Amino acid sequence: MKTYIVGNWKLNFTVGEASIYLHKLLKNLPNYRDVEAVVAPPLIALQPLSLQVDRHKLKLAAQNGFYRDYGAFTGETSYTQMRGMADYAIIGHSERRYIFREDDKMVAKKVAAAIRNRITPILCIGETESERAFGETADVIRDQLIGGLSEVSDDDLDKVIIAYEPVWAISSVKAAKLATPDEVAEVVKLIRKVLKETYGAEFAESVPVLFGGSVNPSNAGAYLTVPGVNGLLMGGSSLILKEFLDIMETAKRVRS
Ligand code: PEP
Repeated sequence: MKTYIVGNWKLNFTVGEASIYLHKLLKNLPNYRDVEAVVAPPLIALQPLSLQVDRHKLKLAAQNGFYRDYGAFTGETSYTQMRGMADYAIIGHSERRYIFREDDKMVAKKVAAAIRNRITPILCIGETESERAFGETADVIRDQLIGGLSEVSDDDLDKVIIAYEPVWAISSVKAAKLATPDEVAEVVKLIRKVLKETYGAEFAESVPVLFGGSVNPSNAGAYLTVPGVNGLLMGGSSLILKEFLDIMETAKRVRS
């Protein structure tokens, strides 16, 4: 299985800045065979960057998209419109869930819409600090997993990636804490257990599971060696060219 290193640029960079960053990234990024590098630019930069990117080195992801393909949905952009531009789509990110009130039903529709448009969904799940404190982590993970995958047919399950992102570990959250590798291992094990019970062993073992939450060059190696983790999703570190390149190099080293 590939290792995935995914950078979520969030609401950062103008189109011009994104293009300059991409240029530098492509210039410095080796062509790693088993490590898939992905960045998610702001939507307004997706189209120009899709013309500029070298897909042998780097893939693009959508940060958001609407679940209907066309119609009277003022202000929205569909995965149909991003077809051929985005290879992946980040869906269910905690910022979408908590700032924009996206629930599991909406997340499920977006996951289905991405697949319908040949874009690989990266389904993000994770508990908040208070859910963890109240011992609700397992229930939240189960609900978000089963809810988020509820509109995916059995035949399409192999098109999905899961990202475990404890909300309390995301760097933009106030007083964010680093998750320990043991804490990550425990939840990743739970994710695969829930998937096995619900969809069977084949999917549970083969689905890529990424970790995200304040990943940086000094902790990336530790997270990448957690059993069951197949890659990283990061925000802050993906905005700093050297950090993104260092983490790619770590991923290559950990694999070999
Ligand atoms: C994220 O928002 O998905 C994320 C993991 O951010 P950061 O790496 O900055 O914690």
